[in-house]
Amino acid sequence: MPLRNLLKIESMILRKVKSKVETLLLKGMPVSDTIRSGLEPRVKSLNEDGIVPQLAAIIIGDDPASQVYVRNKSRAFDKLDCKSHTYQLEADSNKQDVLALIDTLNHDEEVHGILIQLPLPGHLDSKTILHAVSPEKDVDGFHPENLGLLLEGNPIFIPCTPHGILEILKYYEICVSGRHAVIVGRSNIVGKPMFALLAQKFEMGNATVTICHTGTKDLTAHTKQADIIIAAAGSPNMITGDMIKAGVDIIDVGINRVNDDSEKGYKLIGDVNTESVMGIANSVTPVPGGVGPMTITMLLVNTVMSAEKNRELIACQS
Ligand code: NDP
Repeated sequence: MPLRNLLKIESMILRKVKSKVETLLLKGMPVSDTIRSGLEPRVKSLNEDGIVPQLAAIIIGDDPASQVYVRNKSRAFDKLDCKSHTYQLEADSNKQDVLALIDTLNHDEEVHGILIQLPLPGHLDSKTILHAVSPEKDVDGFHPENLGLLLEGNPIFIPCTPHGILEILKYYEICVSGRHAVIVGRSNIVGKPMFALLAQKFEMGNATVTICHTGTKDLTAHTKQADIIIAAAGSPNMITGDMIKAGVDIIDVGINRVNDDSEKGYKLIGDVNTESVMGIANSVTPVPGGVGPMTITMLLVNTVMSAEKNRELIACQS
């Protein structure tokens, strides 16, 4: 090839490299550490008043991922001088037994938060079980009363994962207001509450929000227009570099187990093909280590807040 052509190719490559942005990795740990530090004096104050914020986690069956998740939650609670008690029920527990346990915990004054670990075994209707949790102890924010308050713009308990995402955006000073956010996934625990938060006239809201799902005809047409992408589909590597525009901020919620030849036999990957978005996106959360640590932290926040509300209530009554 003539030298002139070679030089032309070299300059084209250089131009492309120069135009690439340095994509920032939005790690969850610094955000989580900052929030947990802020909780310490609040927990100390509660402890001084003889109150220990307590979470009751109900786990039905022996799904290994759920076991790990609940164990991690317990550790986080212990570290912050809060309590967490796990109620392990058999996979074939019937609805009446589960509802009876929830009722007992609803009336237990020492319990400030009740968590039902999802997914539930197929024979249990998750709606019936989640709706049985007292809205005052619904630290996951899944009760229709709490979801309604969120839609209204007056949330008390905000679902932990979407709340954690807002905290990441805030910590890294990523502007939300006036931008176009595209959410991929419309579940009750991530996609829908995320929509309700980003669309509110809040400091960390006020975005124009599009929500995509399996009925969306041309996903790329939407993601290419996004200033912010929230990927919460549970589909490994589905968002790739050719589906985004330059400068987009990407939150990867997905946690997908894919088999590999490591000792564990699997690794965790997100819904975003991180490698392919590097140099195009302004920022992206890593998996693991992005949104994951925030979910447990926001559960702590909600449980401490519930304990504080309970203290206020007792003070008003006495
Ligand atoms: P669900 O399975 O409940 O919902 C997935 C949503 O994504 C559905 O609305 C589905 O659409 C949509 N979807 C799936 N595939 C596609 C596709 N190819 N194109 C467009 N939309 C699609 O999942 P969750 O919301 O519970 O969780 C999503 C992911 O986030 C999972 O990987 C989960 O492990 C992870 N997660 C991570 C958390 C964390 O702490 N980091 C916490 C919670 C979840 P449709 O409604 O049409 O079926």
